Amino acid sequence: MDAQQTVHMNPGEGETSYARNSTFQSAEQMRMKPQIEEAIMKLCGNSTPLPRSMVIADLGCSCGPSALSLVSAAVDAIHHQCLELQQPPPELSLLLNDLPSNDFNTTVKHLVAFQERKNMDRGEHGSSPFVVASIVPGSFYGRLFTTGSVHLVLSSNSLHWLSEVPEDLLKNGIPMYHSDEQLWRKTRPVVLDAYARQFRKDLLLFLESRAQEMVPGGRLIVSLTGTQSPASASDGSAQQTWEFIARILDDMASRGVLDKEKLKAFYIPLYAPSEKEVKEIIEEQGSFSIYELQVHDSMAGVNKAVISPKMIAYGLRAAFEPIIQDHFGSSRELMDEFISTAEKLISQALSQNELAKNPRVFLALSLERQS
Ligand code: SAH
Repeated sequence: MDAQQTVHMNPGEGETSYARNSTFQSAEQMRMKPQIEEAIMKLCGNSTPLPRSMVIADLGCSCGPSALSLVSAAVDAIHHQCLELQQPPPELSLLLNDLPSNDFNTTVKHLVAFQERKNMDRGEHGSSPFVVASIVPGSFYGRLFTTGSVHLVLSSNSLHWLSEVPEDLLKNGIPMYHSDEQLWRKTRPVVLDAYARQFRKDLLLFLESRAQEMVPGGRLIVSLTGTQSPASASDGSAQQTWEFIARILDDMASRGVLDKEKLKAFYIPLYAPSEKEVKEIIEEQGSFSIYELQVHDSMAGVNKAVISPKMIAYGLRAAFEPIIQDHFGSSRELMDEFISTAEKLISQALSQNELAKNPRVFLALSLERQS
């Protein structure tokens, strides 16, 4: 398996698409709105004259309507703030980024509709900002924009994707998971440590790149999947999302639906850090001050009536189908089997009330680029 893989969500807007199976992620975007509004208040505050133009970027936008959620909240907040201050709004440049493998066709469709709506409002009311939008394909683990040009960087549900599989695991042939419980307890700390080190390397690079691109005083609002317990904890519950995916695939392999040897060489480049790890890395990098770090319950704000094993299984499929098919080959039967196995394991977890002790959270950060 290549260290660098084609990470992208299920494209389009059909039954298995990310656009239709990202309820938890959309709920987290809603929870980020107050942080975005606060940042806009600061950026367009009373003390500084309003800039004539502002640049706002969303990193890891993906393809559905949610690709526009964060930038839309920022545009609305700027509009509102300018009405309060009775000042003409700045012109806005919106930059939407994702990896080149993203389904940008669907993103553009929503983007054009958004831009037309905003500029039509402008015609009617005169006070809304003039908006231009662009797509910026590339990895956010590196430079994307020109030096000192961006005022506000937003990102939701993306920064837990690593730039690559931890090299130590690949090089030494250490599998991501073992179904044998004893063996897994022994190797799990080594695996988690390799993931934690890769995450640290990636987050440092992310922060360094943004530090160069952002204006002094610029704001960075990011939410990513995190875990409540530190990476070294060795209890039996699936602490990382990839552990749960590995259990599903392992169940399939034990029934001969999936090749066991291929499974041993399968890795998911994903890491959910603890709050402490993230804080330490930001402090170590040193260009940003932490204005706020909120820990959000990953189930909050989602109507409990819509949470079902099927809904969770489809959510997992929307995010992991591309990477699974990349490794095991594309086949409809494989993904049907994935869904039924996922539903079975999720039902078991629900009946044992495992979700109540779900260690996964969202870490929502609001940072300021130091002057
Ligand atoms: N922001 C959206 C989508 C999150 S899905 C939401 O909140 O719903 C995660 C997205 O991050 C995917 O579209 C994936 O392609 C993108 N991504 C992962 N690694 C990336 C990288 N290194 N650079 C840019 N985008 C990346």
